[in-house]
Amino acid sequence: MLNEIIQTTLNNYQYALIVFACLFVLEKIRPIEEKQPFAGIVFNLFIALALTASIQTTMRLLAAALPPMPFHPLLTIAPPTTWQGKIGCEILVLFIYDFFAYWLHRVEHSVPFLWQMHKMHHQEEHMNVTTTNRHHPLEAVLRVPFIMLPMVTLFDLPFAPLAFGISLGMILPSFSHMNLKLDLGRLTPVFIGPQLHRLHHSSQAKHFNRNFANIFPLWDILFGTYLAPVKGEFPSTGLRPVSSNSAYSGLDLLARVKRKSVISESSFFETTVGGIR
Ligand SMILES: [Zn+2]
Ligand SMILES: [Zn+2]
Repeated sequence: MLNEIIQTTLNNYQYALIVFACLFVLEKIRPIEEKQPFAGIVFNLFIALALTASIQTTMRLLAAALPPMPFHPLLTIAPPTTWQGKIGCEILVLFIYDFFAYWLHRVEHSVPFLWQMHKMHHQEEHMNVTTTNRHHPLEAVLRVPFIMLPMVTLFDLPFAPLAFGISLGMILPSFSHMNLKLDLGRLTPVFIGPQLHRLHHSSQAKHFNRNFANIFPLWDILFGTYLAPVKGEFPSTGLRPVSSNSAYSGLDLLARVKRKSVISESSFFETTVGGIR
């Protein structure tokens, strides 16, 4: 079962690229940051290529090597027959996927070895849709034991919604990383948008270790890590202390001089004040 899920997820990956391209255009409508460094976007796209190669290679190897499941899953959910049932089943798959993704993410912020990998995602200071795939290539490997394996071990879910749900679970976070000034209002605690996830990436200490879920804030609400944004709140992002963020502008000589001092300040911040977050 896991092998087929992995193969179908890989086949659906092409749709993720189309979604990314559409959202990249859409975020120009009302950006949080008007001008973002082009070099950062190019860097993220190269990382996305490395991540895709890592996902493809790892999952193909695993799909070929994994033995059939030695026992039956604990809970069986019958295949839906009505369209309402199909939608309900898809939402259920997404909730289950997001539950395991929540705990993987939370563990990545708690275990020093895993934080060393995950912090690459948090070093982004100019968040946009390309940040979605700014992950250490090894993080892709972790999704199999932490998300896919428990899903198929514990639940006997119908194949089509399960494969589609896992693919959606990997695509939907591109919405929450958008450089888009969008306040979801009453939907903020229902579905994760760019404002709520921006708090997770915030460089302000008061936002650290909050909003770990990828799709549904429900998991943060249940496990005590939910933090709602204040109206109009779109904080700066990255691992630098908040006071230094505005000084980091990039190309001119003056900025480079400032940047040197900011980097040493940042190293101090990461190893002492910020630590694992
Ligand atoms: Zn994180
Ligand atoms: Zn993120």
